Amino acid sequence: MNLDAHWMPFTANKAFKQKPVLMESSSGMYWTSEQGDTLLDMTSGLWCTNLGHSPARVAEAMYEASRNLGYVPSFNLGHRASFELAERLTELAPGNLDHVFFTNSGSEAVDTALKIAMAYHAARGESGRNLFIARERAYHGVNMGGTSVAGIRANTRQFHRWGEVDHLPHTHDLARNAFSRGLPAHGVEKAQALNDLIALHGSDRIAAVLVEPVAGAGGVLPPPAGYLRALREICDEHGILLIFDEVVTAFGRVGAFTASIEFDVIPDMFTSAKGLTSGAVPMGATFCSADIYQTVVNSEEGIELWHGYTYSAHPIACAAASACLDIYLEESLFTRVNEGIGREFEDAVHSLADLPQVVDIRNYGLLAAIEFAPNADGLPYGTQIFRKGLESGLMVRGAGDSVILSPPLIMESRHLDEFVEKVRSVAKVIW
Ligand code: PLP
Repeated sequence: MNLDAHWMPFTANKAFKQKPVLMESSSGMYWTSEQGDTLLDMTSGLWCTNLGHSPARVAEAMYEASRNLGYVPSFNLGHRASFELAERLTELAPGNLDHVFFTNSGSEAVDTALKIAMAYHAARGESGRNLFIARERAYHGVNMGGTSVAGIRANTRQFHRWGEVDHLPHTHDLARNAFSRGLPAHGVEKAQALNDLIALHGSDRIAAVLVEPVAGAGGVLPPPAGYLRALREICDEHGILLIFDEVVTAFGRVGAFTASIEFDVIPDMFTSAKGLTSGAVPMGATFCSADIYQTVVNSEEGIELWHGYTYSAHPIACAAASACLDIYLEESLFTRVNEGIGREFEDAVHSLADLPQVVDIRNYGLLAAIEFAPNADGLPYGTQIFRKGLESGLMVRGAGDSVILSPPLIMESRHLDEFVEKVRSVAKVIW
């Protein structure tokens, strides 16, 4: 087979195509490769298959939808399922976050939030507020808005940022918080950097502060206790919107429908994707407050927001999301994370602290990172564990010096046992 034509995303194409790893099927916690090898997935694909792989009920709902109403645009036309889904989702959302704009990905959900923030301020006569404050080590997708606010350096290296952006310091603090379980105790004061940026730029120029409640791709960095609340208070003082990028954290990953519920801090908007359809089909959603919706919608006659996607609220995606929601709620999966399997996960991950070169292990809900010391003599240890893991039937995410874990919410104790055993045998090969 010629693999050349497909330019693969975020992949070392030349290396992959010399030694491809091709999956053929998936079920529950496992993929099966073309060679028939199984791979225990401790990453939920890309943090998305929260319900495990290929749940039949979701596939059936999508099939039904595609037979009945394969496509209808949401521009000036509609279909019942999108309104029902929006209603169900906003009932679960905290505070007055009772409107939802559908997109096809997390990147689109982020860019949608940035655009809504600008439209909101313009509607209030404050069109000078166009500057966004994000955070170092942040990942907000790969569209130009998300790329412009990105905090992971590698993701902006080849591109120019568009628009005005500044960054808060990241919250990782190995010296004080190493081996934290749950929220790190130290670092609430890092939120005060927002006051410095406000003093530097002027609060009347800042549209919004955008942060992941738990930074994901930047290394799984749970927020220091009190940090998100401090950001909320500073934003409120200055009329700045607070946006949580919950593309990873929503849909049970941290033990509640959203991180904002789990941490009891309500933003003005939040983004989601991934767990929304549990990876079955692309879909994202930007939730916003009643104030934002009313302000924008009441400021214009005719079309109020000049924004939308051909596939916004696609019938098949709505059917998938609705079926996923049924499963999440019927099986109490959001709460399962903190009440049961999340504790076992925490213990399992921290039990690996005796591996060579480990400098930190941190976790929240079903998110964790194991960080190793930088390897002066070769490939970073996180990358090595990822590669050797693949060869021995284990999928973890290698992020440089760290191994990142975000297993499906349906994980059971036996999968954790298998994970620990496999990591230990991989470690024996490396060290
Ligand atoms: N925002 C966050 C926090 C993410 O982790 C991601 C993807 O990992 C995105 C946005 C982008 O989502 P997508 O890849 O669906 O565009």
